[in-house]
Amino acid sequence: KTILRIENLSKSYGHTTILKDITLDINEGDTVVIIGPSGTGKSTMLRCINLLTKPNSGRIFLDGKEINAHGVDENEVRKHIGMVFQDFLLFNHLTALDNVMIGPLKVLKMDPAQARLKAMFELERVGLKDKANLYPGQLSGGQKQRVGIARALAMDPRIMLFDEPTSALDPELIGEVLEVMRKLASEGMTMLVVTHEMGFAREVADKIVFMESGVVVEEGPPDDLFQHP
Ligand code: ADP
Ligand code: ADP
Repeated sequence: KTILRIENLSKSYGHTTILKDITLDINEGDTVVIIGPSGTGKSTMLRCINLLTKPNSGRIFLDGKEINAHGVDENEVRKHIGMVFQDFLLFNHLTALDNVMIGPLKVLKMDPAQARLKAMFELERVGLKDKANLYPGQLSGGQKQRVGIARALAMDPRIMLFDEPTSALDPELIGEVLEVMRKLASEGMTMLVVTHEMGFAREVADKIVFMESGVVVEEGPPDDLFQHP
């Protein structure tokens, strides 16, 4: 079953074409990893899916519904799309718990006790139950990114988008974040991951998409892509 379908997506900034006619399907429960050099349009594609930027042409469907059509409630769409950013984007004046609670409280309109329970559940899921009351400044990069993941999970998204989630981390902290992502994949979360971590791609991806200069140059399951040198 297809959860996310990207159909003939193109995006330009001025005269520069960034994405050229990208078509991509993501099935329920799959982890799709996008690999490609910097400046290839990977982030731009995630921003199109998240409705943070508008494509020039092409259509994006979430659960069969076109999300970039006229008259679509963008905030309603974003509720169902969890986003994890390279640089975490946590509120530094809020505790880990409060960062994770915001969505359930403000967007899902849960009552505070319920939102708190939900946030604690997600913090436990990423192994940070005992850090709930610490501020981002008191956490390592890996812990901050796990808070970022918990915050996205707290919305019960249909799909999680990861934009180079480990690129801002010291090498020794990358593993703990990939571990959480591996666990989510094994739990059946649908994920679209932009990363340079080839080991993760090879082990966890159901499908790897190689992008270069705004086009998909190759895609397929890791076994097919890695068997020839
Ligand atoms: P990647 O994620 O693969 O590194 P990006 O999607 O971030 O690539 O960027 C692709 C290209 O688009 C880059 O050359 C970048 O400078 C350019 N770009 C991204 N956003 C904008 C923008 N708002 N205006 C103009 N150019 C942009
Ligand atoms: P990332 O590589 O993490 O995707 P970028 O550094 O490419 O982020 O982009 C950060 C922000 O700057 C984005 O909002 C993007 O749209 C904008 N941006 C990136 N490149 C350009 C550019 N060449 N001209 C104008 N805006 C840009």
